[in-house]
Amino acid sequence: APSVDKRSLSSTNGTRPTLSSNSVLALTTGDPTVFEPFWRKMGDKSKVVIDGGELMSYFSDVGNVCWFLEPELGDAIRRLHRVVGNAVTEDRHIVVGTGSTQLFQAALYALTTPAGVEPISVVSSAPYYSSYPEVVHCLRSKLYKWGGDACTFDQDGPYIEVVNSPNNPDGTLRESVVKSGQGNVIYDLAYYWPQYTAITSAADHDIMLFMFSKCTGHAGSRIGWALVKDKDIAKKMTQYITITSIGVSKESQFRAAKIIEVICDGCHNVGSAESENFFEYARELMSKRWQKLREALQHSKRLSLFKYPRERCLFTGELNERLPAFAWLECKEGIKDCEEFLRGFDIVGRGGKAFGADPKFTRISLLCREEDFNGVIERLLAIKGIRNGN
Ligand code: PMP
Repeated sequence: APSVDKRSLSSTNGTRPTLSSNSVLALTTGDPTVFEPFWRKMGDKSKVVIDGGELMSYFSDVGNVCWFLEPELGDAIRRLHRVVGNAVTEDRHIVVGTGSTQLFQAALYALTTPAGVEPISVVSSAPYYSSYPEVVHCLRSKLYKWGGDACTFDQDGPYIEVVNSPNNPDGTLRESVVKSGQGNVIYDLAYYWPQYTAITSAADHDIMLFMFSKCTGHAGSRIGWALVKDKDIAKKMTQYITITSIGVSKESQFRAAKIIEVICDGCHNVGSAESENFFEYARELMSKRWQKLREALQHSKRLSLFKYPRERCLFTGELNERLPAFAWLECKEGIKDCEEFLRGFDIVGRGGKAFGADPKFTRISLLCREEDFNGVIERLLAIKGIRNGN
């Protein structure tokens, strides 16, 4: 494997960084470390070895629209979608990006150039992923501007709607809501994987964004991909990535291809004793966490969670519960600021306001390491204990 001294990436004393400091549990980001034990168990099977003389060129596949996409990764992505059944890949262009974060920006660029007289509004129904407004607003672009909640957007003319389904932060399933017909839709399908939700059909939209981070847990590789129907849009997205980073790390692409290959191979022996089915493992883990969380908040008068319907999953063949990556906690009994309330118990989440929602909500990540998750449960139980019947 590439010999990186992990200590230099970690905290100063050489141990891995942990979320807990001074007993405060910071669960503001969705760092998907929850899946680390699976990959540790896989050991050499998921190892990638890269010699010093390899992967040195900028170029990967000069004949392809996305000339910096490693063919191995392209093949692995198509195979993964075939195995899971969550998206149509036939007649689609794959554009690889440094996380889906870069692809979102690439899609905005592709859909708004050449520039019109006015910047195009970008909207998403609240509560929306807090990075959308941040990314849209960051460079004060003349191409596009943040237009807020899609549900209240009523301007004429072109717009872009971002649809995130299942949705971060609240786990709901989403469809586009603006109906004027002059807009383009970007589907962010970050969490449309069997460990989080039932796969009910193969998604078939013009622009779909997927990410490696929440699918396998390898957020650090910073790989995302877009499935794009229109060749010109795919070309412009590629152009954006060329301008901003001249491509995407090949080491990351090779690692992602290997990890995806391991996942696809493991999916063939579902339910067997030897099962190395990643999605089965990950679903079970998420299911246990949701069960513990729901138990901890049972009869709580101060905090509540959404209930989600069960759906038939084409991948597992079962009636599956939705198991979102985040808990979207709602405070009751007149508590107006849920983030502040939880902070009082040393749980730090991200308050509703960042998502264009009421501050009575807070999002906490359920993708943290086991010890941190157990810490959250302990604290939620303590809220009950201290406040007698809360
Ligand atoms: N979209 C959504 C809905 C997300 O939750 C995230 C990560 N939190 C991203 C996009 C970006 O992910 P990445 O850049 O790691 O692919």
